[in-house]
Amino acid sequence: MDHKLKIEIGKIEKLKKNKKFECLFPNCSNMSIGSHSQQRGGQLKVISRNDEVYAMNFNMYEVLTKGESAFTLVKTRIKNASIYPGFCQNHDGQVFAPVEKHPLKLGDSLQAATLFLRTITYEVTRKRLAYFKTQKIIENCSKLLPLAVLENFKLQNLGRKKFIENDLPFYLSKAYSAYNSPDSGVLKTKWVVVDKIIKASSCTVFSPMRDTNERYHHQAIACPQVMSTFNLIPTDNETHIVVSWLAEHHDDNLWIDGAMETELEKFINYIAICESEDICLGPDLWESIDIFTRERVHEAIHHELHRGPLYEIPNIIRI
Ligand SMILES: [Zn+2]
Repeated sequence: MDHKLKIEIGKIEKLKKNKKFECLFPNCSNMSIGSHSQQRGGQLKVISRNDEVYAMNFNMYEVLTKGESAFTLVKTRIKNASIYPGFCQNHDGQVFAPVEKHPLKLGDSLQAATLFLRTITYEVTRKRLAYFKTQKIIENCSKLLPLAVLENFKLQNLGRKKFIENDLPFYLSKAYSAYNSPDSGVLKTKWVVVDKIIKASSCTVFSPMRDTNERYHHQAIACPQVMSTFNLIPTDNETHIVVSWLAEHHDDNLWIDGAMETELEKFINYIAICESEDICLGPDLWESIDIFTRERVHEAIHHELHRGPLYEIPNIIRI
């Protein structure tokens, strides 16, 4: 790897780490702080050991310099896990209060809407950060990268731009209307509680379209892509699995009700491992898994093209 390129990537990672956006609360122009998509003192604390969990390594510089294969789960302090520049100091506390200041209660519509909003704002910010970083790479590293790589980065950012300009405002406005009127029927939720503490935690969007062709079709057309939200939240004595989607996308999500009733464990592993890069695993769980299975998990997280047939997904999260 070219030395100059490494240095440039290092600088860009630093810029990204310190990047702030305007608060995602409507009409607030304060700058964001580091919000957590998974509550630090709640679900992350519950699965942690010595305040550490295993989370995805997104730092390209570390991957380049330390030679860790891209996208692996690495030990991460919980204060640095699942962090994103979403809300200002005031709104970070205020917006998430329904799920952070009160215990989760099965079927609570305000809590479901809060989790949906949190997941959407997390995704929005991730996409913005990825766009920012890629743009910097295109600007600062154009002479250091092969043309084909540059072209690929440009194409990726075209897709992100479409999402940021089109899908993002759509989902944010739906999420706020659900949050402001939780019983208005904007959202549908399937919520299941398991009577044990699962040492895994996640807050992610996923596509409910399981058919790849269907997915590509939906991503290609102008209307917003179909996204549902998944939250895996262990508490002190149980674990909540909360899945929400827009009522207008109900047909695409019909299968979820049955899957969560009859194949909950498989469903959790499928979404948390294959559909998401935002899984946090407790050291107790991850370190008990043999290295071959870990490798399969990394592959499954990496990309749907690499993960092999769905029935071969390793079931590491046990319920
Ligand atoms: Zn604010």
